[in-house]
Formats: sequence, structure tokens, C-alpha cells
Amino acid sequence: MTGKHILVIGGGIGGLTVATALAQKGFKVTVIERSDGSGVEGVGISQQANVVRALATLGLARDYLDAGFAYDTVEIYAPDGSLVARTPSRSLIEGFPAAMGIPRRVLLEVLSNSATAAGAEIRRSTTSASLEQDGAMVHARFSDDSQGPFDLVVGADGIYSQTRRLLFPDAPTPQFVGQAVWRYNLPRPSGFDALHVYNGPTGVGLVPMSRAEIYIYATTPEPDNPDYPLEGLAARMRTKLAGCAPAIRAIAEQITDDARVVYRPLEAIFLQGPWHKGRIGLIGDAVHATTPHLGQGGGMAIEDAVVFAEELARHDDREAAFTAYYRRRFERCRYVVEKSLEICRGQLGKGPLVDNAKAGAEMNTLLAQPI
Ligand SMILES: Cc1cc2nc3c(=O)[nH]c(=O)nc-3n(C[C@H](O)[C@H](O)[C@H](O)COP(=O)(O)OP(=O)(O)OC[C@H]3O[C@@H](n4cnc5c(N)ncnc54)[C@H](O)[C@@H]3O)c2cc1C
Repeated sequence: MTGKHILVIGGGIGGLTVATALAQKGFKVTVIERSDGSGVEGVGISQQANVVRALATLGLARDYLDAGFAYDTVEIYAPDGSLVARTPSRSLIEGFPAAMGIPRRVLLEVLSNSATAAGAEIRRSTTSASLEQDGAMVHARFSDDSQGPFDLVVGADGIYSQTRRLLFPDAPTPQFVGQAVWRYNLPRPSGFDALHVYNGPTGVGLVPMSRAEIYIYATTPEPDNPDYPLEGLAARMRTKLAGCAPAIRAIAEQITDDARVVYRPLEAIFLQGPWHKGRIGLIGDAVHATTPHLGQGGGMAIEDAVVFAEELARHDDREAAFTAYYRRRFERCRYVVEKSLEICRGQLGKGPLVDNAKAGAEMNTLLAQPI
């Protein structure tokens, strides 16, 4: 099918990766992204060896690794701060590290540059006003009143995907899971070069994401899904960490600027049914948005993108391509969403508390399998 014109709706992690992968395979690609690119959170995300491997298939691993902070070790701590395990993570490619922390904004820059370099056109501050499929094409009209025919469309428009709603109006909607995550960037202490994860009902972690910075995250029960005012957010985050290990309480003293606290209620969705209809397919959070307990949501979107492009390039028949993509992705993404929710339920006291060392080891073994 190479040579066809593909519209990608959403220029986030999955959309920019699929634009790169498709353009590299000879498709003509147009990406539309609702935002102008200025509002991306400055906090980081963590990613594992499977993501390094997926980006390496697109020739991006070096740029990606240079832009963040690579590490090979995870330290697991008990709630009282005692070290439970210091586990080396396994790299999946010779000469490359096993895991990464990277500011989300910087990751999007790397992916945006790669999409453009591969030949994709990226139109920011643009959404689709309508999409209509006939037997031969998808006719798109955009928010700036321009329009065009496309051979195929990829909905990579995230957890609140309009494309998903258009294709499957009766599909489930994202569900609040009773928890929220608090994040804050801090200077990287000298020698801090591993992911630190704390077991316990408040899940806390410290992630190196550049030579200069780490970020702290904390998942807390927020059963009423409160809408906290900006004023006082830093003090509130410190209070949430007050029962944590001494090392975390000490670090929390640096959380002082309300405007730099990133607070986010956690939601999840997993689409059991098909991930495409006609000429329109879905990838990433649009079909499987996970809570961040395994740090794999972005990773699954990146892997989706690689597989999606491979299958479209491999098949002349689009139905066969979409079905092959779905079959290769379904179980892996379902595992990530469900295991993350299991950790979440354990932290909320609604299920057994999951040991982070065991969960991490299980995830690494499973996701080391080829995609
Ligand atoms: C608090 C939190 C922490 C996380 N931490 C991690 C982590 O550590 N590691 C990790 O791998 N993952 C993490 N994730 C998950 C990760 O952020 C997502 O899985 C990932 O961003 C999904 O990529 P995506 O491209 O599907 O969606 P997104 O990255 O959300 O991109 C969707 C894009 O579509 C655009 N858009 C939406 N609607 C339209 C429209 N109608 N027209 C045009 N554009 C549109 C949006 O502006 C956005 O840019 C975390 C998620 C959360 C909520």
C-alpha cells in the first residue's frame, strides 16, 4: 500500500511516531495536531528497553537517548525507606541502555523532528471538522476550512479521542480510577543515576530525566476526584508525602512552587472490540489508555506506531493490514492496562498490594518478547 496518502489525527507520542514510521516506508503523511505545541507538560516520563528497541527500528534511538537520561538499574524501597532490591534492567539491544527518563516536551521534539525529516507534513493548531468515508477514500474537512481526500486515516488523538467516538459511538469512555498522580521536577542530586521506586499505599518514585533534573511522582487516593485550586498545590503535595520514607520527606521540602506541581487524575480505557472501521484505524491512548503504574503508556503507543506502519507496508489489502496490526498489539496492550490497574487497586486497598519489584520483572520479561 506504500505511496498512499495517510492523515494522522493527533501529533502526540503515537501520532508523531507513526508519521515517522509511515513516511520512512514511502507513504505520504499529513499530521494534524490541535495544539500549537506550546502547552506540553515539562515533567518527564520514564520508558523501558522495549521503547528503546522500538525507536531503534526507526533509527531514532541515538537522538532519543541523547535527549534524556539513560539508566540501567531500578532500586526498590520499602515504605520505611529500606532498600528491598537493586535490580539491573536488561537492555534489549547491544550497546544501548535498558531504560530512560525524558521530559515529555523533549521527547515530542525528537519525534516531531524525525517525522519532518522523514517527509511528513505537520499542521499544528488544526483539527478535523468532519471525516466521511466512501468506498474509495476518506474525505476530511479541517478546522481552517481546508479539505482533502486521504486513502487512510490514523486516529492518534489520545484518551479522549474524537476519532474513536466517531467510529464507535457506543464504545466505553475513559474511567476515573480513584487515584491521581502528583509530579514535580527537581535538581538531580549528584550521582543519582537509577530509577527509585517506593512500595506502599502511596506509590512514589524518583526518575532521572536529564543531567540537570529528576522528577518525583506520587500516586495518591483521591476518591472524590477533587478539583484542587492552584494556590496551595505545593503544600498539598508535601502533605501527601508526609507519611513516606525519610528520603522522600527530605526531597519534598524542595516542592515549593504551586505552578510547577503537575496534578493529574488517573483514567483508563481499553477497547475490547476492533480498532478500525473502513479506512480509519486507531492507535495509542485512543484504544488503550493506561494508568502510569508501569510507565508503559507512551511505550505502547510507540510500539503500536511501529507495528501499524509495518503491517500497512506489508499488505496490499487494508483490512488484512488493520487486522494483523490488531492481532499483534491486543494482548500486549491489554496486559499493560490490566496490570497497571492491579497495582492501582492494590495501592487503594481494593486488592492485594502488588510488589513493584515483581511487577517490574514480570513486565520486563513479557515486553522483551518481540513486538
Ligand atoms: C500522569 C501520566 C503519566 C504518564 N507517565 C508515563 C510514563 O512515565 N511513561 C510512558 O511511557 N507513558 C506515560 N504516560 C502515558 C502516556 O502519556 C500516553 O500513553 C501517551 O501520551 C499516549 O500517546 P498518544 O499519542 O496515544 O496520545 P497523546 O500523547 O495524548 O497524543 C494525542 C494528541 O492528539 C491531539 N489531539 C487530540 N484531539 C485532537 C483532534 N481532534 N485533532 C487534532 N489533534 C488532536 C492532542 O493535542 C495530543 O497532542 C503517562 C500518562 C499520564 C496521564
